[in-house]
Parts: sequence; structure tokens; C-alpha cells
Amino acid sequence: MLAGAAVYVGVAWGVAGVLVGAGSLALQGALAFLSGPRGLPGPALAPAAQPELAQLLREVAERVEHRAPFAVALIPVPDAFLARTRLDGARVDCLALGLPLLQHLTQAELAAVVAHELGHRAHLDDRRASAVLRARGALADAVAAGAVLPRLIGTRLLRRTQGLSFSFEAACDEQAVAACGTTAVAGALRAVDLQADCFGLALGWCEHLEEQGAYPADLYPAYRVVLADPVVRERARRRYERAAGPDPADSHPPTPERLRVLPDGEAGPWSAEPVPLRDGSDLERLALRELLGEPEGEPVRVLDDPGRVSVTPEDELRRVLRATTGASDLDDLATRLADRGLQEALRADDERRDAVAQSAGRLLARQLQAAGWQRVSPWVAGVVVGPAGTRRDLADELEDALTADDPAAALRAVVAR
Ligand SMILES: [Zn+2]
Repeated sequence: MLAGAAVYVGVAWGVAGVLVGAGSLALQGALAFLSGPRGLPGPALAPAAQPELAQLLREVAERVEHRAPFAVALIPVPDAFLARTRLDGARVDCLALGLPLLQHLTQAELAAVVAHELGHRAHLDDRRASAVLRARGALADAVAAGAVLPRLIGTRLLRRTQGLSFSFEAACDEQAVAACGTTAVAGALRAVDLQADCFGLALGWCEHLEEQGAYPADLYPAYRVVLADPVVRERARRRYERAAGPDPADSHPPTPERLRVLPDGEAGPWSAEPVPLRDGSDLERLALRELLGEPEGEPVRVLDDPGRVSVTPEDELRRVLRATTGASDLDDLATRLADRGLQEALRADDERRDAVAQSAGRLLARQLQAAGWQRVSPWVAGVVVGPAGTRRDLADELEDALTADDPAAALRAVVAR
């Protein structure tokens, strides 16, 4: 077991002061971890318990000339960040690493993530930089929480300070390239994006099962299977391609932009295999507890019954469709889409449009399944294959229809196809 052993600095943590978010998951998520009662982002990963990981961290720290000791904490999501905490007057850095990154990135990619994060030390050390980052974090939180005044003022301030935040990220990417090479950094950027999307499915299982008084006992083993599923990967790739430009709250530039400006750098000495982890199932248990708290209710094995977590009841799909558009079914949706107000609202709100595309796409999938079509993957409900072998991603087609010049006609065409 790993619990309680913070070996880089052998003491309990105070309250984290500044936080630099990373990866594609919301900064908000990271802040939520830090605001836990222990003031720690997660269980400590002790070098003695994870010698291979510790070796990799030491090698990266040496390459980027990061001499100060730092603690390493486990977080349950595919993300990483560097946080600073004050302890008896002394400042200490803590590197938080997500279990999905530890398990599925190559060592070269993991080294790139670590080199990037350690680069943020310069921003934590700089009073002006850390003040800006702290303010951006608080504003992003307030805006996400839906406060009216911060939304107006906050968005403007977030936009104005975004360039500075982006320049910090570019500097950290450069450091990562110098230490680990262009290929490793590019691979890490793509892999973390892919994981952020795929992990969304796993978070969906948690939500879905919670409603049934249950929890996914094999979340991480099942996530491993999902991450390898070509249908899931293809879906993530398309969603990534159609992603809109940066939100004002984003601390990082969009990945295509980061990839475009990466300098050339030679590869480091790290392998293309994931870092060996000791006590893997203990880590998974710890991460699950971080994610869900002490698990309650019926433990469900997702891998034994994928249908239980990935089939949303029809009532629920209709409820989402009604809540987002007022429509009771696909016909009604086509009628309502003649309204310019609804068209504009859906174009402007990615999250709402995604909810409509997902729920309407799955309702259409049900209709087709009743006519003999079948699901292609147990994990993705909206992708079906017909008796003649035609494959359709219905959520994707719906998404296209909702952003078409004439959404009502486009939707009718999708339904009639
Ligand atoms: Zn960063």
C-alpha cells in the first residue's frame, strides 16, 4: 500500500496556494481535488513504493534542472498539474499525476508531461505570473458556476489574460521538447486529448450507476478496454477535429496550435512502454476512492455487463431532448428547428448542442435497431451498422445537421436516410 507516504517531502500538506492546470480536463476539476479536506491533491506516490516512476521523475528533473524536492500525488483523471503549498513557512511543490496517464502513456510521453509541468515552477516562482494564474483560476470557477456578474466581467478578464497564460504553456512545451524531444511531446499532447475524451465515458458510467445505487468496481480495467476500442478512438478523433476555438477560460492553447509551434528536439532515453507500476490494483482502488469517495452501493463489474452502463433508458433520452429543445421526439425536433432562435442557441452552445446530438442520435439508433441495425461497439450507443453493412455514427450526423444552414431539413434528411 502507498497511503500516507509522502517521501519527497516527508510531512503532511498545508493548503495549496497556486495551481497551474494542465491537460484537457477542466482546471475546475483540479481545483476541486485541491480543495479537499486534506489540502492534498491525492494520495502520495512514494519513490520507495514506485521505484521505476521515481527513477523517471529524477531523470526528467535532472534534464530540466529542477533541483528542489517535490512531492508526487495520484489523481484519478487523465490530467497532470503542478501545485504549490506552504508548509511551516516553507514552499513545496507537488506534482499531481493522473492514474490513466501513468497507466497508458509511454515513458517518453510521461516524461514529456512531467518536463512540461516542472516548467511551471518558474511561473509559481514569479509573483506576477502566479497572481495572474490564481486570478484566472478563481474567475474560471466563478464563470463555470454560472454567476451572472463574473460571467460578464470574468469572460472579458479571462480573454485579456489568456495570452499570458498561453505564453507560459508555450514556454513549458519548449522545455519539454528540449528534455524529451518533439515526438514525445506531440505524442503526449495527442494522447492526453484522446484520454480526456474517452475518460468522459467512464465518468458517465459513474453517474449512470449512481442513479441505480451502484458504482463501477472495475472502472480502470474497463477504461483500459474502452481506450483500446477503435470505435471509441475514432469518435474521440472526430470530436477533437470539430472542437471549437479556445474558450476564454482555457489555460492552454488548442492542441493543434500547440503541435504546430513545437520546436525540433531530440528524443530522450525513455522507452515506448508505459512505466512499470507496483501494486497496480491498489493504485486503482485508491484512484477510485479519490473519484467517488468511499464507494457505496452495489459494486458492478462494467466489463461483465457493458449494456448496464452504456444503454441509457429511452425515457432519459427523451427527458434530455425535452430539456434542451422542448421537443418530445425527432419529428417534433425537426419542426422546432425551423425556429431561428433555437438554431442560433444551439450553434452558440457546444455543450447544449452535444446533449441534443447525443440524445437524438441515440433515439434514432433505437429506431434503426428495431429495424435490424446493430451496435458496433458496446461502449458507444450512437454508432450502428445496417443489414447491408452500412455504418452510421448517428450522433455525428446529428451534430452536422444541427450546424447546417437549414437544420430542420438536414435533420429530416438524416432521419430519412
Ligand atoms: Zn501547462
